[in-house]
Amino acid sequence: MSRTLTPFPYEKVLVLGLAKSGTATANLLLKNGIHTIVNDFKTEETDPVVVELRAKGAEVIVGSHPLSVLENIDLIVKNPGIPYENVLIKEAIKRDIPIITEVELAGRLAAPNPIIGVTGSNGKTTTTTLIDAMLTASNKKVKLAGNIGFVASEMAETLDEEEPLLLELSSFQLMGIDTFKPHIAVMLNLFEAHLDYHGDVLSYERAKFNMVKNQTENDYFIYNADDARVVSYINNMKAICIPFSVNKVVENGAYVKDEALYFKQEKIIDIEEIVLVGSHNISNILAAIVASKLSGATNEGIIQTLTTFSGVEHRLQFVGKIQDRLFYNDSKATNKLATEMALQSFQRPTILLAGGLDRGDDYDDLIPFLANVKGVVLFGETKLKLKEMAEKANIEHIAIVENVKEAVPVAFSMSNEKDVILLSPACASWDQYKTFEERGNMFVQAVHTLA
Ligand code: ADP
Repeated sequence: MSRTLTPFPYEKVLVLGLAKSGTATANLLLKNGIHTIVNDFKTEETDPVVVELRAKGAEVIVGSHPLSVLENIDLIVKNPGIPYENVLIKEAIKRDIPIITEVELAGRLAAPNPIIGVTGSNGKTTTTTLIDAMLTASNKKVKLAGNIGFVASEMAETLDEEEPLLLELSSFQLMGIDTFKPHIAVMLNLFEAHLDYHGDVLSYERAKFNMVKNQTENDYFIYNADDARVVSYINNMKAICIPFSVNKVVENGAYVKDEALYFKQEKIIDIEEIVLVGSHNISNILAAIVASKLSGATNEGIIQTLTTFSGVEHRLQFVGKIQDRLFYNDSKATNKLATEMALQSFQRPTILLAGGLDRGDDYDDLIPFLANVKGVVLFGETKLKLKEMAEKANIEHIAIVENVKEAVPVAFSMSNEKDVILLSPACASWDQYKTFEERGNMFVQAVHTLA
């Protein structure tokens, strides 16, 4: 049976923004008999979504944000991407109309089931996927949603009794919560991110820590003990705090000792057995071990996951081995930092495939990370800049090609047995591809063709 929004003390609700989550929200409200107004700036009158929502009884206003849509509204569900500077939002704040995001509704639907919430600047998708896999491999039910492609409230509606809801949460979503409370909250790390939206570091951090504002002493806060910014918040925490660390032995949490991973002094797995590469991923794995153990995962389930899981698509994902060369797809590396991280993950001779949209960056920062790189294959708008950088770094083989598809056989011709062939472009994909996924898929396909 599908869950309902009760109690729900709002009669007339405005849904602002008609992306995937907005449409799901409007459908949910209508199903629950709530008077629903939808407003979207971009969508057109003839859009099938508009037609369908009208047929179901929603009032839909598209093409502008007239202040009249606020009349008698007692709640706004805002798309996380709409900034608080938006004229309607500013006016709503003046009128004291509460503003939430869709995850608040997911939380109401999920209660009293436990929510596992994962946030941080980097590693959210990887960690959430790992927790899901660890629980599933332990024969534990779980539903996965959030920023990861499934709408949280849609998943929440279908939860079985006691089944946990596992959510990847962005700071944008977390700004709009009221009663939402994860039983298990995971804070991966805090880098300066999205400052264009949040304005300053403190408001970004505060948005992330909104996740724990309703937690009590019966809940858990799993945190990165290697991140000084994260640690600076734990004194104010009501929940039980459990650390994870790559650098030090934290005996009440998860940590690395003698090239193995431990949780509360129990050895879980040797690092060499783990398929996922990258030292940053050890941090994500430790976080996932704690969250999944607290939710009933077994060591066997965790080990099975870590000895088979080869990465989330396009994020240092192991694609396969051809004539003893190892191929990795890191198309999500759309900036230099991500490519540096990828290069640090391999000790073997590497051929790097890179290039893409030119944002005016200078690529010399990459030079210190090229110690194992013996060849580069370059494409896209930045190919000449990258070539100059590679020449400065005295890279043995340098080639320029048209695109990722052409790059794969050229990279292969530069390689020997046991080498790594890595797509980690250090640039966004929009000069040649619609998305980084399209770029990554082209790479994977070219690798399969080569095979
Ligand atoms: P998110 O969902 O937060 O964007 P992903 O799991 O999709 O994170 O990883 C995106 C990229 O972020 C990876 O390719 C990697 O370069 C980087 N990354 C992942 N985990 C970490 C981490 N724990 N610390 C630093 N960088 C990371």
